[in-house]
Amino acid sequence: MKVVVDFDLCEANALCMEVAPEIFKVDDQDLLHILIEHPDEKYRARIQEAVRLCPRQAISIEED
Ligand code: SF4
Repeated sequence: MKVVVDFDLCEANALCMEVAPEIFKVDDQDLLHILIEHPDEKYRARIQEAVRLCPRQAISIEED
């Protein structure tokens, strides 16, 4: 899978980082970084939770 974030929508509130800190990091300049763009399947459930929680619907999962 591939984790995709629409950075135009993201407001850097870090909710995704709370559920999946291995994947998402908001830095001290309020910029979101995807730490693992092609994560292992073991992270899927928590990434899906981040997709669900994101108030901006900025995160999506693509299958590759
Ligand atoms: S939860 Fe959504 S809006 Fe918040 S930092 Fe993550 S991608 Fe951005």
